[in-house]
Amino acid sequence: MTPLEREIRTIIETEGPLTVSDYMQLCLAHPRHGYYVTRDPLGTRGDFVTAPEVSQMFGELIGAWVAAVWRQMGSPAKVHLVELGPGRGTLMADALRAARALPEFRAAVSVHLVEISPALRARQQQTLAAEGPVQWHETIESIPDGPAIVIANEFVDALRVHQFVRDSDGWHLRVVGIVDDKLGFLVAPVPMPKDFNAKSPDAPNGAILELRNEVPIEQLSQRIARRGGAALIIDYGHATPGFGDTLQAVREHKYADPLADPGEADLTTQVNFDELIVWARRNGAAAHGPITQGEFLRRLGITQRAARLKENATPLQAADIDSALARLTAPDQMGELFKVLAIADPKLGPLPGFDR
Ligand code: SAH
Repeated sequence: MTPLEREIRTIIETEGPLTVSDYMQLCLAHPRHGYYVTRDPLGTRGDFVTAPEVSQMFGELIGAWVAAVWRQMGSPAKVHLVELGPGRGTLMADALRAARALPEFRAAVSVHLVEISPALRARQQQTLAAEGPVQWHETIESIPDGPAIVIANEFVDALRVHQFVRDSDGWHLRVVGIVDDKLGFLVAPVPMPKDFNAKSPDAPNGAILELRNEVPIEQLSQRIARRGGAALIIDYGHATPGFGDTLQAVREHKYADPLADPGEADLTTQVNFDELIVWARRNGAAAHGPITQGEFLRRLGITQRAARLKENATPLQAADIDSALARLTAPDQMGELFKVLAIADPKLGPLPGFDR
């Protein structure tokens, strides 16, 4: 039994079952035993591989996107470049390297990383050592005032969600308790209040509804609406709302049981992009997209970028570039399941990659 499972059992025995949201939070961010707190989960020897780890093209194209948005903002003398959940810092390093081509932009940028993991902060510090000063933050709120361009790749999927199960008398919270001496999913006996149930009256019995914690994205949207700038959110998920349990655990590149070995697997749910758009708009920001990652990267010129890189490559390197290109853009790989959404200051108008 993992130390975190022991702790979770104690909580359940003394306070009753945990919501799925609290369970996710403990598994990912418990101050001593949380999955992200205790390790660097990325890479082939870790648990999963993300787009910036697949190829430098990803971060470079996003660097070019950020610079184009900065120009559209009127090339302000100071802009915060913020990344939420930067992992190993690879995306930011590739983006900043690409930005050197635009010295005026590079000079305007101050870099802010929002990261809860001490292990990953150390890794980010190494990766970004050559790129000048960087500031770390626990939450979006502590980033200093002023216009900002924000990047979040595979960050939102790790933000906690509540799950609800539909029954004939309405929606019930899905919780984690102890069943046959193991952690198991249960359904809270009392239905949610009437107002809540009015939201989706047509759901069939047994349907599962997921609602993510809106606080981080609402704060982000407010900030962008008030102070200017844009946020680029890239994640796996769906563009139209639906019902279903998407909670998944990944460990050593394989799916695992989300309740087995808490704290030892990555725990995420698919992003409901519709929900993000609602949160953005009700806080005064505009939303662009979502469009698929494949389409977005093609519009930013990934095909041409790959061809340029191949000009000076050995045959082996060229094959790697081709396979990275396919991995990032092909419909049966990351190209379609991953989507890109921008939350922006409405004054900016159409944004690069979204403007057709
Ligand atoms: N963006 C990176 C890493 C994705 S993994 C990449 O594409 O490779 C998720 C990242 O978000 C990790 O850096 C993790 O430590 C961080 N993270 C997860 N939940 C967080 C939270 N609530 N606040 C800040 N960072 C968080």
